[in-house]
Amino acid sequence: MPELPEVETIRQDMIKKVKGKKIAKVEIRNGKNIRIISPQEFERRLKGKIIKDIKRRGKYLILPLDPPDFLIFHLKLTGRLLFSPAGAKEPDYVRIVFTFTDNTRLFFADIRGFADIYLLTQNEMETVPIIKNLGPEPLSPEFTLDKFKQRLKDKKGKIKPLLMNQSVIAGIGNIYSQESLHRAGIHPERNVSKLTDREIEAIYRSLLEVLQEAIKYRGSSVDAYLDLDGKEGKYVPHLRVYGREGKSCLRCGSPIKKKKIAGRGTYFCSKCQK
Ligand SMILES: [Zn+2]
Repeated sequence: MPELPEVETIRQDMIKKVKGKKIAKVEIRNGKNIRIISPQEFERRLKGKIIKDIKRRGKYLILPLDPPDFLIFHLKLTGRLLFSPAGAKEPDYVRIVFTFTDNTRLFFADIRGFADIYLLTQNEMETVPIIKNLGPEPLSPEFTLDKFKQRLKDKKGKIKPLLMNQSVIAGIGNIYSQESLHRAGIHPERNVSKLTDREIEAIYRSLLEVLQEAIKYRGSSVDAYLDLDGKEGKYVPHLRVYGREGKSCLRCGSPIKKKKIAGRGTYFCSKCQK
């Protein structure tokens, strides 16, 4: 599933390619991903609107429109947003085609169909819980070490699922939680209430490092993720623990193990992650 670095990569590309464009036509071939409103209403409200900006909150892409409305995408497992110059060939599994007034197109494609698409009013933005209940943005200036400590305070349970909990911190999923914990030398099953201040600081620093690095390399294409041009992210060769079961730990040489933790396949080194 695209996590913060992948969604941020798409956002930055959309700023260059989609920002400021006016929607001339919306063609809905499969409207199952559209939440709350009907596909007919979705199409009617979007036609003629301008994409004013592209923002991100956690794993959500948020497009403020003019006249006001907010178009929101959560790509989930296999959702993709692909930009195409006028006349270019269509990608596979397209469900919705947004055609702009300059004849360029934005395709929403989804093989398995779990992605969520919302069209919300300003008022709904403040009341619908999807965005409202998200934890802080880890790369925002407000996300200080103290803030991170605060978020973990009084929490119980294993650290890895907690890092993935979107109401604790926004944007971290299965890959980057594991990468951060390996880098910090913390076992993914450690109980958060037993972590020392120093260990929390190590996780905090690793988390920021890993996210920034992954954005620099345009994300990880471990499964369906592709960027706006349909190209793979380049971070996979830089992953230190994810997907490396049986291979030597890059820090200590011990074989990397894999275990299901809170239902998700988790890679770790039992020697240097304590
Ligand atoms: Zn190790």
